[in-house]
Order: sequence, then C-alpha cells, then structure tokens
Amino acid sequence: MSVTHSFFRKVFTRYFNIGFGTPRQDVCSTCIQITEQIKHEKSVAEKQKLMTNLRIHKLRAKAFFLKLREENDDLLTLSFDCQKNLPLPKVADQAAYYSRQLYLYNFTAVIGSSHSVLQKSNVRSYLWTEDISAKSSNEISSAVYHCLNSFDLHNIKTVRLMADGCGGQNKNSIMIGMVSKWFSEAPATLKRVEIIFPVTGHSFLPADRVFALTEKRVRKIETIVKPEEYENIISEHAEIFKLGTEVPIYDFRSAVKETLKDVSRWHFQITKVKRVVLKRGKTTRRILARGELSYQNDTGVAKCLLRPTRNFTHLVPDQLSVGVKVTEAKLNDVKKLLIKHFGQKWLQLDYLSFYRNIFERDSNVETREDDACCEQEMEEILDFV
Ligand SMILES: [Zn+2]
Repeated sequence: MSVTHSFFRKVFTRYFNIGFGTPRQDVCSTCIQITEQIKHEKSVAEKQKLMTNLRIHKLRAKAFFLKLREENDDLLTLSFDCQKNLPLPKVADQAAYYSRQLYLYNFTAVIGSSHSVLQKSNVRSYLWTEDISAKSSNEISSAVYHCLNSFDLHNIKTVRLMADGCGGQNKNSIMIGMVSKWFSEAPATLKRVEIIFPVTGHSFLPADRVFALTEKRVRKIETIVKPEEYENIISEHAEIFKLGTEVPIYDFRSAVKETLKDVSRWHFQITKVKRVVLKRGKTTRRILARGELSYQNDTGVAKCLLRPTRNFTHLVPDQLSVGVKVTEAKLNDVKKLLIKHFGQKWLQLDYLSFYRNIFERDSNVETREDDACCEQEMEEILDFV
C-alpha cells in the first residue's frame, strides 16, 4: 500500500499530535516544492513558468495578510485557529511519547487586526477535553457563534472572519451556514460579512502567537496532570470559555445540511474559493453569498444558498448533550501512564479526579457520530502502522 506524504503528515500531526519541527510560519510545502523544481528544471521556459507560479503563490499569501492587517472604524476582524492538542497527563517520560493520551482542545479567537496588541480583552480561548466533545465543525461553529453574539456591533458595517479551517476546507460549509444564520439576525446596520481562508502553508494568525506563548510555558513544566493547569497558563493571555459547559455546543452540521443546498449545488466551489462574501438581499433577513477565487478581485456572483422553500429562521440547531466515550485502547494507555507515575492507588488521589471521573463514567456514555478524526479511524491507522 502506497501512501502520500500529506497522508503521513495528517496521520502524524492529527492522530499522534506530533509536530513537524520547524515553526509553521517558516514552512510551506508548496514554496519548498516549487523552489526545488526550479533548481532542477533544465528548460528555460518551464523554469520561467515555475517562477511565475511561485511568485503568484507568494503574492496570494501576502494578500491574505494585507486583509488581516487592515484597520477601519467600521470593520471588525476576528481571526481564529486551533492549538495543537494538549496532552493529559503530560509527563516527562519516553513512555508518554508512544502512549495515547487524553486531549485538551483549545480553539482561540483573536479580535482585531494583526496589529492589535494581544491582551486578555481581545483573546478568547474555548477549551474542552475530548471526553466532553469531539473537535469537529459543530464545536468550532458553536465557539465562533458564541463569540459573534458577544460583540457590540454598533457602528460596525463589516465583520471579517479569518479562519484556518481547523476541520479542513470541506467543513467550511457548516461555518458559512452558521455565519449566514447569525448575519440574518444581526442589526441591519451590519452590511457585510466576509469569511477569508488563508493560503495553505501561510496561515500564521494572531492566535498562533498566543499559542507560542503558552507552549513556551508548557514546555518548562515537567508534569501537567489536571486540565486546570493548562487553563491557568492559557488564561494568562486569554479569556477562558469552557465549551460544552459554559458555552453550549449546537448541532449546526445537521441544521445547515437541512437548510442550505448541498455543497455540490452551490454556485461556487467551496474548496477553491479564498473568500466568501455575505451580503443582504432584498430584505435584511435574506443573505446572499459570493465565492471569490482571489483575495482582491471581485468576480463572483451573489446568490442564495438556501434550499428552495427555506429561510434562515428554519436554521435552528439543536443543542448537543456533552459526553464522548473515550476508546478502550486510549483509556488503557492513560491508565498505564497513571500507574507508572502515581502508583497503583492513583484512583484514590484527589488531584487525579479528572481521570477517575472518565473511567467511572465511560461505561454509560453513548457514542456520538462526528466528522472529526474519529477514534475508529485512528484505530484503523494504528493497525495499519
Ligand atoms: Zn508557500
């Protein structure tokens, strides 16, 4: 069985949570690839073509950051990204490297342009552990929805969302549906909402600067056992919101699928566009979407994404109950780690109550289907490896 480089990258970064070393802003596989091709290309014409491609690619990346840098009194920018999963327990031990651990997820939104000073008042971190909920489009959309609803939109004409997908491009349709719904209910003075996607490989967002600060602190601490320990570190730079408990998780995925047309029938290709611009139609509650292939040029057509007999009042997501069953294999690994570090009597230790609760509870939790990298998929990959 032959697999691609990107497949391995996905497996390692997503399933094993192993980074590829160099900081993200410096690595772009497209840049590296084209640069290598230029070096080895013999034909002058082909070389020229490749150089043009590389230039276009870099200009596009620059155009994205120009959007992120833009400041205007009536423009509100919100950029967001997911931090690398934070392992629990974090122990300084080789065994942990090969062991499945529980994860704390951190989805962080930064309010303001890339010039904004990062401070607690404009950084919001949505945290949840994997036993609470998955990391899928529903969780991400619910966090963004919560954030959007907290804004005072007085004097704001444009809301700009700069997203790194987190769940991949195909998940962006759920985000577009959620944002359209929110926009349809926002004050009529808000005229435009833009959702802007970065150039792959050049997606260093303000949230990543916050992650770098927390990761620096985390690295210095040998053992982290409780989710609260991460929360304390993260709260030094962000306002914390607990997803699933303080902030409800909604089933936007089902609601969007029922209300919007199938993505295959949209008038633009979601996987190709760099921007989606939402504007109001004849009535303030009618939202039209335009997909744009470029960051600067407007050539797309604005159309409604709703199914024929639907409107946005029909898009009402159910609140999801929290609680996800952790796989047996992962629980076993975590148990081994806990025994190794805290002895056979770890269950009696109060500061390990986070784990005890999961072990005691998991026999009566239903499994929910999710579009995140599901555990079953992970098991298959582990079998394959
Ligand atoms: Zn690049």
